[in-house]
Order: sequence, then structure tokens, then C-alpha cells
Amino acid sequence: MNEDQIREVYSADNLIEAEYIQNLLTAADIESRIDGEHLQLVSGKVPAQLVAPGIMIHADDFDRAKALIEEANRERHHNAESSQQWTCSHCGEKNEANFEICWSCQQEDETQLT
Ligand SMILES: [Zn+2]
Repeated sequence: MNEDQIREVYSADNLIEAEYIQNLLTAADIESRIDGEHLQLVSGKVPAQLVAPGIMIHADDFDRAKALIEEANRERHHNAESSQQWTCSHCGEKNEANFEICWSCQQEDETQLT
């Protein structure tokens, strides 16, 4: 890669997400690398897995990569929401994650009270 034209397209939450994004880009024939070294130097004691790694790509691929990542994140968040049902501790009914009170008895979701 020509270093002059490398841009960070995405900052991942952790290395697992970074590798997920990199696989996504590789599958679309976009060359990428995971770059967290500068952050490790700044944060010192933080283990590498916890440092937010940047996904670095060539500037020419930026728009395409950005679109791919945004689409993938939309799908992931949608899947996470639809799988995170909670069960009412009062009446036992299942509720969708976006309901904060039970649809059946209006009991608050105790799992969300932190
Ligand atoms: Zn209930």
C-alpha cells in the first residue's frame, strides 16, 4: 500500500470487531489492515484486545468500504435487537428488547435497571 493514501475508514470497538470488518472488506476485494499501534502507545497499560483498532484502507476504496461497513453494522444491530428478548419477571411474557415495560402487565424490565 502507498502510505500517503491510507485512511482510517472505521474505528472498531475491539480486535474481534476489527477482524470481522477486515474479513468483510477482504471478501469484497478491498485491501485493509488493522492499525491500533499508536493507541497502544498512548494507553500504555491497556491490553491490545481492548484498544479500539482502526481499520486502515486505501483512499480509493474509502467510499465503497464505508458503505459496506455501514450496511453490515445495520444488519448486526438489527439482529442483536431481534435476539435480545427479555422475559417479564412478573407474568413471564416475552418482550422485545426495545420495550422497557412488559406489554402484558406493564412491569418494568428489571434486567435493564442497572
Ligand atoms: Zn409482565
